[in-house]
Amino acid sequence: MDLLNTLVDKGLRRELPTREEALAVLATSDDDLLDVVAAAGKVRRQWFGRRVKLNYLVNLKSGLCPEDCSYCSQRLGSTAGILKYTWLKPDEASQAAAAGLAGGAKRVCLVASGRGPTDRDVDRVSETIRTIKDQNEGVEVCACLGLLSDGQAERLREAGADAYNHNLNTSESTYGDITTTHTYADRVDTVTKAHAAGLSACSGLIAGMGESDEDLVDVVYSLRELDPDSVPVNFLIPVEGTPLAKEWNLTPQRCLRILAMVRFVCPDVEVRIAGGREVHLRTMQPLALNLANSIFLGDYLTTEGQAGKADLEMIADAGFEVEGTDQVTLPEHRVDAGAGCGSHGSAGCGSHEGAGCGSHEGGGVCGTAAPAASAVPATAVNEQPRTDLVAVRRRGAGTDLAPNA
Ligand code: SF4
Repeated sequence: MDLLNTLVDKGLRRELPTREEALAVLATSDDDLLDVVAAAGKVRRQWFGRRVKLNYLVNLKSGLCPEDCSYCSQRLGSTAGILKYTWLKPDEASQAAAAGLAGGAKRVCLVASGRGPTDRDVDRVSETIRTIKDQNEGVEVCACLGLLSDGQAERLREAGADAYNHNLNTSESTYGDITTTHTYADRVDTVTKAHAAGLSACSGLIAGMGESDEDLVDVVYSLRELDPDSVPVNFLIPVEGTPLAKEWNLTPQRCLRILAMVRFVCPDVEVRIAGGREVHLRTMQPLALNLANSIFLGDYLTTEGQAGKADLEMIADAGFEVEGTDQVTLPEHRVDAGAGCGSHGSAGCGSHEGAGCGSHEGGGVCGTAAPAASAVPATAVNEQPRTDLVAVRRRGAGTDLAPNA
């Protein structure tokens, strides 16, 4: 297929595909799916070998958010039966992190619900970061606290944070359909602040909210412009009690095409399969490791993932290896550049799931806008809760029960 040969060549050269080429990947047929995966897999192996980076989520503060992100089970007005608690203490967070690290994770992602942190919250998270770093040599820490005010990114960096996550989630033109309490520009501003403070930027998207192919390509090209080091690709987890609970728009095949498109547009960037991996890829998860070089271990913020042990078995069975703390995730040219897809000057590209700030979770398009026709298969809307696929987290951080890492 000429398209795939062209995309492989461009990916190996870190050259930006055209928008038409990116759209064509999303439009490929099921007959061509394995060829698409094989082609994007060549690009993945060129820059990341067969390594899989494991990340571990610690939800520092769950629920009770004043924002209205439609995909999020922690949003204002959510009736989802999620865990609700306020800030974990530093030792509690460190204990939760230790479980993920023992399971093979090398990065801990500290996430808190809310519009953004107060300066007192930054103090609190700074103490938590220092505690985790003191107790776990070599751990990478990423903070995900919402919109940042001036100076907060610098303070997190000084406390030892390595990275900051804030997702764009969807295209600029549809952003107002999923959230009204803050803007797309607010999100871009926070990613820019994190980058400027010397934090490794992590920013990604949520697919399955009823968006069109054009929206998906738009957000991925915008991410490349922002040049994060890691791009988390979330697949909407339609949580009961959120406005997007009925948005079951994804198939495993579409998820694979989306991941392949992200890999071609952001060839040398950590592409992470985030929330919704188990829900939407299901038995096709191992195939997706040919596209993404990073996943979350165990549970998500407010919903359950498959057991950490099953993640490790899947990686080994598929012929991949867990990336160690002595291995550098990014290709040398990006490390030398300090962060970012340094090679291209045009676009660059990095969390998790089902509820929460920026990185995780899933939603679906906000009730106000009709989903684009091309995005939603006729069978998409499921009127019945999929309790077989979506389970609210009842263990780990914020509970007395052990996590499943
Ligand atoms: S994504 Fe973050 S800001 Fe939006 S409702 Fe959820 S916790 Fe609040």
